[in-house]
Amino acid sequence: MHAVGIVAAAGSGLRLGADQPKALVPLAGRPLVAWAVETLRAGGAASVVVVVPPAERGAFAAVLPADVVLVDGGATRTASVRAGLAAVDAAADAVLVHDAARPLTPPDVVARVLTAVGGGERAVVPVLPVVDTTVAVDGTGAVTDALPREQLRRVQTPQGFDRATLDDAYRRLPAGAELTDDAAVVHTAGVPVQTVAGDERAAKITVAHDLAQAEAQVAAKDRR
Ligand code: C5P
Repeated sequence: MHAVGIVAAAGSGLRLGADQPKALVPLAGRPLVAWAVETLRAGGAASVVVVVPPAERGAFAAVLPADVVLVDGGATRTASVRAGLAAVDAAADAVLVHDAARPLTPPDVVARVLTAVGGGERAVVPVLPVVDTTVAVDGTGAVTDALPREQLRRVQTPQGFDRATLDDAYRRLPAGAELTDDAAVVHTAGVPVQTVAGDERAAKITVAHDLAQAEAQVAAKDRR
């Protein structure tokens, strides 16, 4: 199997409160995007495409290995991944789509996803159980429904796909449709999505507290 990784790194990171794109924010001295690229490679991606904010291309090129392909992103994650997919090399038969915002994802997670794709699954996502009671609320904040948590999962990245399946699902996605991940894109196209075990270390960095947690995780590992 020839797998190519796409790192979605074109977000602004407004919620992190940084004065630069989130993917360039350092964790233990290295930008988040560099961690994400390394994880994909260590887990089995033959090459990596990174989707960047167009105005920041130079800054990304300065911190990434020279063989990483840089592509201009769009206004939404869906548009950014669409742009990344167009740059995946013709020889690839599997695609891994990963968030730059998940820097400490262990390579094992990447490998688990790839193994399932290699075994014939067309779409594979790493997931974790939901441990809290989970409810739906209305616009006023009132609880409308308690959801059965044993049926719920938190979905992480990297998400793995048969390349032709993902290409086709993005082609069929109506213009303007914006989904929060790629499994939702293929699910919308009627493709079954399989799950494998995710990892708490693949948590997404969204707010400043998440970055502080990740720093502590790296420091604890260095002390061991
Ligand atoms: O906003 P959120 O945290 O869900 O973004 C998930 C990932 O998608 C991030 O790594 C971010 O850089 C990326 N993204 C993107 N293009 C956008 C918005 C988000 O590549 N327009």
